[in-house]
Amino acid sequence: MKERLQDAVRRRPLLGDGAMGTQLMLAGLEQGNCGEAWNLTNPDRVLAIQRRYAEAGSDCLLTNTFGGSRIMLNRHGHADKVAEINRAGVAIAREAFGSRPGYVIGDIGPFGGLMEPYGDFTEAQVRDAFEEQARALADAGADAIVIETQTSLEELTLGIQAARQVGAACIIGSMAYDVTLDGSTFRTMMGVDPEHAAQCMVERGADIVALNCGTGMDMERARQAVLRYRRVTGLPVMAQPNAGQPKLVAMKVIYDETPQEMVRGVAPLLLAGVNILGACCGSSPDHIRAFRGAMDEFLRTGVQHENQTV
Ligand SMILES: [Zn+2]
Repeated sequence: MKERLQDAVRRRPLLGDGAMGTQLMLAGLEQGNCGEAWNLTNPDRVLAIQRRYAEAGSDCLLTNTFGGSRIMLNRHGHADKVAEINRAGVAIAREAFGSRPGYVIGDIGPFGGLMEPYGDFTEAQVRDAFEEQARALADAGADAIVIETQTSLEELTLGIQAARQVGAACIIGSMAYDVTLDGSTFRTMMGVDPEHAAQCMVERGADIVALNCGTGMDMERARQAVLRYRRVTGLPVMAQPNAGQPKLVAMKVIYDETPQEMVRGVAPLLLAGVNILGACCGSSPDHIRAFRGAMDEFLRTGVQHENQTV
């Protein structure tokens, strides 16, 4: 039987993958269209992207199901295809590894709205949507489920509970932080800092604490977040920062940190004790290939983590 993800990462750090959204756009997805539906309509294109990540050296692939909850899919008229789209997402990621062993992480992104009393969605609606998606991912054989790009503890909690409810083999909670205006620290849009997020994840029963995406969260900020997580919990930590700062060019948001720039942050992050390292918006298979090289180099030299005993 395959070693559980949360156990495997305690023995050696694993490489995650890079962006899916920006890669889907490059493959022809138009802004505002449903990228998750491509699991059914253009599975070959999704597979090609994930294959490039696997070939670049990813040990873990996130399924193309970020917006695969009923609430998100309903905006594109695909609410009747939740199970199909999520099952296909797991199958495609698995196929991308080919004969190589690898971990397929079922991806659940934000439901994309606000809950009562601030918004229109009831807690029950969100809980049901997460549970339905988590069940499809787990039933299809995902090795883990990540609740990602989260900004509120309430939604994070519902996601983790849903993953537990369906018996997910490994549960990852992943927050999106923004650097504050004065640049002194970072917290989520809803005001949550890393310590409180980690505490919440531990209490709800997550197996891995994580961060991804965000604004201004480069490799160095991700390293700081990893250290702050590790002061609160001994759980493994995953980090998938963006390829630099978002810039608005010709009415398009772009991320332009090159693999050469970003890879400088790999060894410091590994030294800080990160257990799974990948990247988010704007990153490409080239970034992940560079990460692979730096990670292998780091493992060859056998440097110990700082704060090893934390
Ligand atoms: Zn992102």
